[in-house]
Amino acid sequence: MSEDVNKLLAGQLLIVEDDAITSELISNNLTAFKKIHIVANGKSAVEFCQLYKPDIIVLDVGLPDINGIELCRALRDTANAQSCPIIFITGCDEDETELSCWESGATDFLKKPLSLSTLQQRLLKHLNTSKQLETYRELIHVDQLTGVFSRYYFSMHYESHVAYANRYDTDVAILLLDVDFFKQYNDHYGHVAGDLCLRQIATIIKSCVARPPDIVCRYGGEEFIIVLPGTNIEGGETVALRIVDAVFAEGIAHAESDFNSVTVSVGVSSFKTTKETGIDLIESADKALYNAKAQGRCQVRTFQQHA
Ligand code: GH3
Ligand code: MG
Ligand code: MG
Ligand code: MG
Repeated sequence: MSEDVNKLLAGQLLIVEDDAITSELISNNLTAFKKIHIVANGKSAVEFCQLYKPDIIVLDVGLPDINGIELCRALRDTANAQSCPIIFITGCDEDETELSCWESGATDFLKKPLSLSTLQQRLLKHLNTSKQLETYRELIHVDQLTGVFSRYYFSMHYESHVAYANRYDTDVAILLLDVDFFKQYNDHYGHVAGDLCLRQIATIIKSCVARPPDIVCRYGGEEFIIVLPGTNIEGGETVALRIVDAVFAEGIAHAESDFNSVTVSVGVSSFKTTKETGIDLIESADKALYNAKAQGRCQVRTFQQHA
């Protein structure tokens, strides 16, 4: 067996099938899967996915409690089964049922009687494709140097936070952070040390930004952008001050800085103080950041509309 297939052996396969003979036949013949969990109804399938993350699901259409098609929709609504392959197996050959399976979020569809070797090969192929997709997703969503979200991730999620604040009359604060005298840091200590420093700063920022919906992203070279949904300008300022203090307190030596230590400056804006578009909100934070730099660095400035 190839190395790739061996890696797939670790995959957790969930079989949802009420007919014990069929589920046993399937599981006994899927020799490439070591971790197989069988449930006989929809409720148990949902409960399983609330607790665990299956790598692939085989789903029967006719189940005792809930139709497999409805179950597929319900599973797609759980975080753990949102993107894993779901393969329907059914004895039914009505076109309408088949179409409903696809529309409910199925990845593939197999009719009984099954060729067990084809089932195994299909599952392995879907598993392989889904693992590759997961790797690509991580590559584009996560900044590889610092481990925080990427600029791409930011651009995919930012506008929806602004739209939410606008629609539900709540606020969202934006923090634009820039490392002080970072060119000098690189010139003095070298780029490898510079990269390490950016990683340390990212870790500090993450430790200061604690609420689940908050997102920390690398915006550009030594700039980070932090989105704080449901947070007003004062809340944003509090978080920004916490970050500035924490970076300074880390005491990362910087011989070329006025502070002898690595520091950051932060500009803060919020939707309610600008009442403008997402782009304007970033521009406002950028103006505030410019003020923080102009007034000596290692500090926080908030955007005031009529300042
Ligand atoms: P200021 O206090 O005004 O922000 O000064 P600065 O030197 O930080 O500002 P500037 O924008 O001139 O310099 C940014 C520097 O950040 C340029 C480059 O040397 C460094 N930089 C940007 N991206 C990276 C990176 O990925 N790794 C490393 N090591 N350095 C980076
Ligand atoms: Mg059945
Ligand atoms: Mg910069
Ligand atoms: Mg800088």
